[in-house]
Amino acid sequence: MREYYVLENWAGEIVQVHEASCQACADATAKTEGKWHGPFASAVKAERVAKTLSDGAALLCDHCLQPAA
Ligand SMILES: [Zn+2]
Repeated sequence: MREYYVLENWAGEIVQVHEASCQACADATAKTEGKWHGPFASAVKAERVAKTLSDGAALLCDHCLQPAA
C-alpha cells in the first residue's frame, strides 16, 4: 500500500505532499527545515490536510506526484 506524507516547511511557509518512497521524503526521514505530517493512506487525504495547514495553498511534489494525465 502506498503512503503519503505532508511536509510543512517553516522557513518557506510551503506545504507539500509527497509519496513515502519519494527521495525528498524517504518515509519522512529526509532532512528538512520543516515538519512531516502523516502517513496518510491516500494522496487525497494528504492533500486535504495540506490544504488545511497551508490555508489552501498546498503543493504536490513535482517528482513523485505528477498530475493525473
Ligand atoms: Zn516527492
